[in-house]
Amino acid sequence: MTDTQSIDPTILREYDIRGIVGKSLTSEDVRALGRAFGSVIVRGGGTTVAVGYDGRTSSPQLETALVDGLAATGLIVYRVGLGPTPMLYFAVHHLGADGGMMITGSHNPPDYNGIKITLKGRPFFGEDIQRLGRLAATGDFVSGAGRTEDHPVAEAYVDRLVRDFEGGKPLTVAWDAGNGAAGEALQMLSKRLPGRHILINEVIDGSFPAHHPDPTVEKNLLQLKQVVAKESCDLGIAFDGDGDRIGVVDALGRVLWGDQLLVVLSKAVLAALPGATIIADVKASRVFFDEIARMGGRPLMSRTGHSLIKTLMAETGAPLAGEMSGHVFFADRYYGFDDALYAAVRLLSVVSGTNASLADMRDAMPAMVNTPELRIDCSEERKFSVIDEVRKRLKSANGVTVQDIDGVRVTSDDGWWLLRASNTQAILVGRCESADEAGLRRLIAELDRQLRLSGIDPGGLA
Ligand SMILES: [Zn+2]
Repeated sequence: MTDTQSIDPTILREYDIRGIVGKSLTSEDVRALGRAFGSVIVRGGGTTVAVGYDGRTSSPQLETALVDGLAATGLIVYRVGLGPTPMLYFAVHHLGADGGMMITGSHNPPDYNGIKITLKGRPFFGEDIQRLGRLAATGDFVSGAGRTEDHPVAEAYVDRLVRDFEGGKPLTVAWDAGNGAAGEALQMLSKRLPGRHILINEVIDGSFPAHHPDPTVEKNLLQLKQVVAKESCDLGIAFDGDGDRIGVVDALGRVLWGDQLLVVLSKAVLAALPGATIIADVKASRVFFDEIARMGGRPLMSRTGHSLIKTLMAETGAPLAGEMSGHVFFADRYYGFDDALYAAVRLLSVVSGTNASLADMRDAMPAMVNTPELRIDCSEERKFSVIDEVRKRLKSANGVTVQDIDGVRVTSDDGWWLLRASNTQAILVGRCESADEAGLRRLIAELDRQLRLSGIDPGGLA
């Protein structure tokens, strides 16, 4: 082993490590990152770490390098094996490990891979990740004679998932694992649930032959919708490449987006915990905030980013949180991390526990018209100052309220629009929502105007 390793700074991202295998992310990089994170654990008094990997073709080789690097710091490394990211998070709790590292490229193309990290069951992000790069560059590692132990946890994990299922009427469910890492756990899980279960793309295949494993892009749900229609399913459920994000369609093939899903899941949580805080990110519909309040809960808006949401949950004691991107976090009866399989079990409990169908529940929510996520090119140097300028212009404007939790979210009689700077790219991200088309057009025009006032070309929004 060399003693220093310079890591490509572009792979050290806000919430995880991600690069192109053999180019920006090599086995040597992964080994060095293992030594760096292992050193952080050992210096913090820890002795154990759990490691898992997803179904990408490069993952087994990167896992070997990672385990090597971690063991070189003197840690006992629990090898959990192939599975979804939430199974690794579960393993950290179940095995009582001091930290966890997951080799995964999540929903990215097959040539990508990366690492998700947790330290003592808490998020490890931002400056924590930057520090790993510095430790690797200076070779400031702890040395010791560690060892590895095999700890398959799939059965314990599925047992834990099934434990919180509360059955009612039997359901017919279509599942699309997208050839991602959740495939095997899903096969075990679906055998243990009542009702009829139709699985597609459940064989783990890192070339993702059926479609891109990202359920927040609607075209990736096409195959699932076809099965739901053909088999007259009550609903369909899809997972992303590493099983920490969920996508849901109702019996009519309509998507329930992250905020709508959260409303459905909140019903049961608020029945058990009246007045509880439920968190959604800043991109969520007004419907979410209205519906949670209507059900007697306390809706809370968070910055976007799963580490930030987990931190806010811990601070507020919220039993449930979610993002538009399909991350759902249950602290109610569970560990508080984002687990799409667990969210699926809780969703099936809700749907099987009432006479209403999921389609009925979707129809009971007020219909809104909204834009997709609008992506506007803006230089790194300008992206945060543009947000500041917009906020200053609107802070004292009449007829609007401005929330600046993450970018600016501007509410008026027409609805709301959001403009925020991406954490990871040289873009501004916008979204508008109104009760009707005319209102939506006015909101888009105002967003367009604000961008132009700051000298940004919105590129044909209005
Ligand atoms: Zn993921």
